[in-house]
Formats: sequence, C-alpha cells, structure tokens
Amino acid sequence: MSTRSVIRHVQHAIGTHPRAEVTVTSRCLDGACPWALEPTADLKAADEAMMTHTGRTGHPTFARTFEDVALVRRLELNEGRHAIPPFPSEEPQHERAAR
Ligand SMILES: [Zn+2]
Repeated sequence: MSTRSVIRHVQHAIGTHPRAEVTVTSRCLDGACPWALEPTADLKAADEAMMTHTGRTGHPTFARTFEDVALVRRLELNEGRHAIPPFPSEEPQHERAAR
C-alpha cells in the first residue's frame, strides 16, 4: 500500500502585527554595572537614557534587544478554509493568565 500526498504552495507574508509596537530593552555591558532599561516602545527615550548613562558613568556599550509581535498571514484561502484567521486578541498575556 502506498500513501500519496499533494502539497500545494500557499503564499504567506510576515510583518509586525499592526496592533503591536516595537519595544527595546537595554543593559550596560561595562563590567558588573547593573544598569538596565526596562522595555519601552519609546525608542528615542531609550537612546537618550543610554546616552545619559554614558554621560554619567563613561560606560559606552550596551546590549539592546528589540522585540515586536510578528504576524504571518495567508495570502490566499485554501479549500476548506473560508476565512483568514482574525488578529490575535489585544488583551495582554498577563491578564489572560490571571483567569
Ligand atoms: Zn554602566
């Protein structure tokens, strides 16, 4: 007995979720310096906070992490699928977990 499958190419696109923000976190890389920046979507304020830290301490290097929510969407519908999945809930995860 043999099994046969048909694979159909389906186009997808990926991008930042339209309701999400890019956030940045940062930490100072100078020795044991504990300075760290909490996640913020204000990228300009994050840059200014790092420059202020450098001005006060002379520490010039930081590890930055940028994060967003990526959304992959199917660009065409397949047989048996009648709708493009809705965007995920805007409800923050910590509120969902509290239930
Ligand atoms: Zn530092």
